[in-house]
Amino acid sequence: MSAEATNPATPGPVTPGVQRRRGRARLDLRRLGRAALLGPAARDRLPDAIGHVVEAHRAHYPDADLEPLRRAYVLAESSHRGQTRKSGEPYITHPLAVTLILAQLGAEITTLTASLLHDTVEDTDVTLDQVRAEFGDDVCYLVDGVTKLEKVDYGAAAEPETFRKMLVATGNDVRVMSIKLADRLHNMRTLGVMRPEKQARIAQVTRDVLIPLAERLGVQALKTELEDLVFAILHPQEYAEVQALIAANAESEGDPLGDIAGEVRGVLREAGIAAEVLIRPRHFVSVHRVHRKRGELRASDYGRLLVLVNEDADCYGVLGELHTCFTPVVSEFKDFIAVPKFNLYQSLHTAVARPDGEVAEVLIRTHQMHQVAEAGVVALRNPYAPPSDASEEPSAGTGTGTGTGTGTGTGTGADDERVDPTRPGWLSRLLDWQEAAPDPDTFWSTLREDLAQDREIAVFRPDGGTLGLPAGASCVDAAYAQYGEDAHACIGARVNGRLATLSTVLRDGDTVQLLMGQDATSGPSSEWLDHARTPGARIAIRRWLTTHPTPAPAPAQSGRRSPEQTPVSAPRPEAPDTTSRSAAASAVVDREGASVRLAGCCTPVPPDAITAFAVRGGAVTVHRVGCPGAERMKEVGRAEVGVRWGDTAEFRVTLTAESFGRAHLLADLTEAIALEGVAIISATVEPPTQQRVRHTYTLQLPDAAHLPGLMRAMRAVPGVYDVSRAQHPAAAAH
Ligand code: MN
Repeated sequence: MSAEATNPATPGPVTPGVQRRRGRARLDLRRLGRAALLGPAARDRLPDAIGHVVEAHRAHYPDADLEPLRRAYVLAESSHRGQTRKSGEPYITHPLAVTLILAQLGAEITTLTASLLHDTVEDTDVTLDQVRAEFGDDVCYLVDGVTKLEKVDYGAAAEPETFRKMLVATGNDVRVMSIKLADRLHNMRTLGVMRPEKQARIAQVTRDVLIPLAERLGVQALKTELEDLVFAILHPQEYAEVQALIAANAESEGDPLGDIAGEVRGVLREAGIAAEVLIRPRHFVSVHRVHRKRGELRASDYGRLLVLVNEDADCYGVLGELHTCFTPVVSEFKDFIAVPKFNLYQSLHTAVARPDGEVAEVLIRTHQMHQVAEAGVVALRNPYAPPSDASEEPSAGTGTGTGTGTGTGTGTGADDERVDPTRPGWLSRLLDWQEAAPDPDTFWSTLREDLAQDREIAVFRPDGGTLGLPAGASCVDAAYAQYGEDAHACIGARVNGRLATLSTVLRDGDTVQLLMGQDATSGPSSEWLDHARTPGARIAIRRWLTTHPTPAPAPAQSGRRSPEQTPVSAPRPEAPDTTSRSAAASAVVDREGASVRLAGCCTPVPPDAITAFAVRGGAVTVHRVGCPGAERMKEVGRAEVGVRWGDTAEFRVTLTAESFGRAHLLADLTEAIALEGVAIISATVEPPTQQRVRHTYTLQLPDAAHLPGLMRAMRAVPGVYDVSRAQHPAAAAH
């Protein structure tokens, strides 16, 4: 193996730090992590102990003002003085190591300052007010964001609620999670001193929560090391086996990856493409995965080639040369530059075979992409900097990737997951559903469930935006991802231009247009749960179903009326037609002698949930529960009157059918209505706009139970994409 191969004697992977263009030696987080604890280097007026932090930070920010770091170190060191870690080391070694990890990844100064202070408020006499006074609002916000909630206040809920608090804080400032991830990495590195049960418990939370968060935030360097540390604790036997495999491979004759790397260098030199060709050893978990998948490992499976170039266009140039001079393994080719993953990651992936059968996987990216691939959001410069800085950010759609080496995000197009890397779509959705999960157990289990899903597919909206969804997601998931709870009103979808049911499973790259009903009170059916994979959708649907229990068939309440209740036949007074006045639904109100009206704003019919209000002149109006008109009545303090549906021999309803215009549409719709045994009282057809037509029908139904079937029948008419209850009866147009 090459000089970069993992030393089999070390318990972890080589985790390449940031690759610098100016030939700077590659950084090894792990090696420097230890070095920070062992021997601080002398450094100007700065305390010796932060020498490594300063060195790592200057590699990314040569002109950095280091004064805040110095002050933060002085405060952290003095306040933690006398405290020791379980290992016996002075406590300050921990915040120092965490800060070094972040500095190596290219974090900016506010993150580093907060990182040095991250345990002061939790574990010392330092207060948040003091941090704010000395270091400003941003540092204070970050320290607060990672400060744990107290067990004495929260009991068993302390851990879930701490994560909830941290994620909410991350929604406002993603640097909170940068610090938490680095904190967890150092704690995992030093976990050996804990009792085995405690090690396992911490490793599990790391596996279920922190690693997926690192992955989603694109912090590959932290993710891979955390994976190996968790692997060693939770699967010690498999870990030892992989360790033995790697050791044996290092001892073995020949170095096919090194040979192929040499050939690739030659090919690119002849083609005139400036490129660095490196060998990246797979981390332990990656070797384990390949081993499980293939059974036998070839020497070339222990690492991958990494080709680093200066410009985006060079990536494709390299690809062309490789596919010309070697035999490409076509199934391994993936373009994560043109079609980026949900996190910030960009690269071309391919594999090439030599005549002797050795296959090398190859990653091709610019230096800029590499920095982002390794450090993800941690590498963002202050993402909340004032406009003067912001104007230097690459604008969406350019992504020139000129490789300055200190990534300011990638900005590679109209992709919602990527337009604002500080507030990715998955985080917004997570923050939405957590609000609907107030109890800590539901939050904690749903969080793990959410994070367990690979967000692998990207579907496009007609406006060019993108939704990131887990593989296997359906149109139901897409609806809730896009509209939140408003998706209750979704009635269908067009997938790649064709009408599709909501249960349709989406594939990567599909274009999805969601068709929304106009009826604010309509809602999801319980079958939607069968098609919802995402927690956001599942929680919203369950919540709706709980608050809207399936109504019994039209109630037969005759004989149960108490004397003070007056059954009232309630024709809609504003209905222009008089022929059916005797045949409207009747509601029973708890107010003797009152005249009852069914409100025109929401046209309630059995078996709607209803409420009623006394209005001027002693009348009572009946509204559907949730009708905006009813909400207004409540707001102005009108008393609600008890009400329920009485006998319902017949009733009227006004329905709106939204359709794509076509010949014979009116004839087909009226036929569908007639076949359901329903009489048309009035109908209007609005002139088409953009090939869409709205038909409004006021209909007389034999009984309430007919309504769902009628609406289904109307929706089944080709071209109709929505049928909903109208806000107002049809105008007289018959
Ligand atoms: Mn800590």
